[in-house]
Parts: sequence; C-alpha cells; structure tokens
Amino acid sequence: MRKNTLRRLLSTRVPLLFTPGPLTTSAATKSAMQTDLGSRDGRFLRVVADVRASLLRMGGVAAPAYECVLTQGSGTFGVESVLGSAVPRHGGKLLVAANGAYGERMLAIARVLGIPLAPPVRAHEREALDAGAVVAAAAADPGVTHVAVVHHETTAGVLNPVAAIGRGLAALPSPPAFIVDSMSAFGAYPAPVAEWRAHFVVSSSNKCIEGVPGFSFALCEGAALRACKGNARSLSLDLHAQWAGLAGNGQFRFTPPTHALLAFSAALAQHEAEGGAPGRLRRYAANHGALLRGMAALGFKPYVAERDAGCIITTFLVPKDPHFNFAGAYDALVQRGFVLYPGKTTAADSFRVGSIGQLDVRDMEAVVQALKEVLLEQGVALPVVQAE
Ligand SMILES: *Cc1c(COP(=O)(O)O)cnc(C)c1O
Repeated sequence: MRKNTLRRLLSTRVPLLFTPGPLTTSAATKSAMQTDLGSRDGRFLRVVADVRASLLRMGGVAAPAYECVLTQGSGTFGVESVLGSAVPRHGGKLLVAANGAYGERMLAIARVLGIPLAPPVRAHEREALDAGAVVAAAAADPGVTHVAVVHHETTAGVLNPVAAIGRGLAALPSPPAFIVDSMSAFGAYPAPVAEWRAHFVVSSSNKCIEGVPGFSFALCEGAALRACKGNARSLSLDLHAQWAGLAGNGQFRFTPPTHALLAFSAALAQHEAEGGAPGRLRRYAANHGALLRGMAALGFKPYVAERDAGCIITTFLVPKDPHFNFAGAYDALVQRGFVLYPGKTTAADSFRVGSIGQLDVRDMEAVVQALKEVLLEQGVALPVVQAE
C-alpha cells in the first residue's frame, strides 16, 4: 500500500472523543436517527413523553410535584432559560458560586439578561466550593432570592458539594430557590433532586447519558416552575412557556430536535441496561483510574487532587520539556484517532482527557499509549517533568 494511502486511511479512522461532549456515541444511538418523524407524529410525541418521565425518574422525582422541561439547543441554552425565567424581574437577586468557566458563564448570562447579582462566591478552579461559604453568603444577604452552583465543574474536573449547599440553604429562615447546573454529572453521579432541595436541575443530551447534541433538560420543582410565568427575558428561552407547550399538547413550541430525541431515547435504554447512573459511574470511575495509572507511568500527575476530583474529565499540566509542543501533539493524536480537549483552565497550560462517552478501560490505555508515542516522537524525555 502506498504510504499516503495508508496515511489517509489512518486519518479517516473513526475518532474516539475524549471530550465532555459531543462525545463518542454508540452505533445503536447513531442509528436511531435514521427515521425522519414529523413534530406532531404520535410516535415522536410518545418518545418525548417517555424521555421526560425517564429523566424525572433518574432525579428520583415524578410529575406533577416536579416537571421536566426540554429545551432546544446546547446545555447553555437550558441554563439561560432557567436563570432568565426563574429570577423575578422585580425584586430578584441571584447569588452564583463559581470555581470555573461554567460558574463564570452563569454570571455572564445574568449580566447579559440584566439579572441583579450578589457578589459571587468563588473558589480556585482546582478546588471544590466550600458549602459553608456559599450558605453564609446567602444568609448574609436577605435580598438573595436564587442561588446557582455547578455540580461537576468541567473546567478542571471538580465535584462540588451540592447536597450540603442545598441542605444549608433549605435551613435558612427564608430559603432562596436553588439552581444546579448538573450538566456533566447528571446520569452518572447521583442527583437526588428532592433531597438536594433543588428547585431547578439542568443537564443536556450529550453528556453522561451519551446522546447526541441537540437539547437540554431541566427538572423543576412544580411551584417554582409555576412561579416563572411571565418572568422570562426571552421568547424562545421561556422555561414556563416551554413547559406549558409540552404539558398542553405534548409538543415543542418551535421546531423540535427530532433526531436528537430519537437518539436520546436509544441512549436512555442503554443507560438503563448498564445499570443506570450507578453502572455508568462505575465505568467512568474505572476509565478515570486507568487513565491516572497510565499517565502516572509517563510522569503526569493530575491537576486536581483526588479529594476534589470527579471521574468525568481529568486535567494535566503540560510537560515543561522544551521539545513539547501541544498543538503538534494534539494533531498527531487526531491523526491516530484520539481527540483530546485543550485546557480551559485559566491559571496553567494544561490539557484534559475525558472519560465519558462510549469509552472503556482499553480505550483509556490506548490513548495513553498513543500520547507516549507522540511525546517520544517530539523528543520529550520520559517520565515528563510538569509545569507547576
Ligand atoms: C457542557 C457544560 C455546559 C453546557 O455547555 P454547552 O456547550 O452549552 O453544551 C454547562 N455547564 C457545564 C458544567 C458543562 O459541563
């Protein structure tokens, strides 16, 4: 075989995505998108109803005490629809606790929408939020009506103490509503919505449930959802109107992501067959463990201490070696069929390796082996010495 033919074959190898979404999906999930259904097709409306009920079950709740609202678009659209609809137009004030880019994104959404903000509670991106500090900040400002936190902060891969924050907020004399961005945790980490005393929990189709991108979903406490009526700062991202549409005739108000919902329905069946969220978390934890072991042998220590780390995505600082070139390494890995995630951390030069999607321990070992080959090709000395 001529050499460039081989190279072309290699470069067209089906890539494995070690990223937090879009991610590697199964053949069954992809093939569920082969049918074109109209937005009012009875089969499609049944899929929508089943998906909404399944998601509520996954959060340990059921209608009508809680409602599931699906919103077209990526996860950010879901967060924006909740923030822009839940906080009242008059007299509302939002407290955001942030330890990474997604907490900061909630602050950015609030600024764009003109939602009054309390001074944010921040923690370093490599550390979990301090639940006591978040509750204390809410207690100190009686004007705060809503508190929002990220469950798993995907920036560096940190798990935040959502249960402790929710318990603390619920114990305040006039508890604020509690909003959780559980985008990259829901479907793997437990999300006991009622136990958390959460009023809104948001995630999306293309994270731990392993569907394709296309929509987000919010599990909403019924009274808190009804209180959203008329608050929205946007027509298309009006959480209450979206719910009223789904609850009324079962339809989306505007063009639904039909194919993404068919794929998601197939992904949910696979999620259940894997043992639900606990089964999925077991696989992700095994992936994370295999990654840490392989990377340790190359000299890489994780950026986040295991105490605060989740098993969804792992951040590593780049090698200090003058021969190391991240862009070159990234491209060489893509050529081999492995897609990593460039760092999103602010403080340090880093890269990230996701363990979610249709990946198993062998895939994690394969990406480490490929990285080792690329580092040796660049002339990087192993084991590496990392920047700090
Ligand atoms: C992925 C993600 C989002 C949403 O990002 P989109 O690119 O809009 O899908 C929000 N929060 C967290 C924690 C995430 O991981």
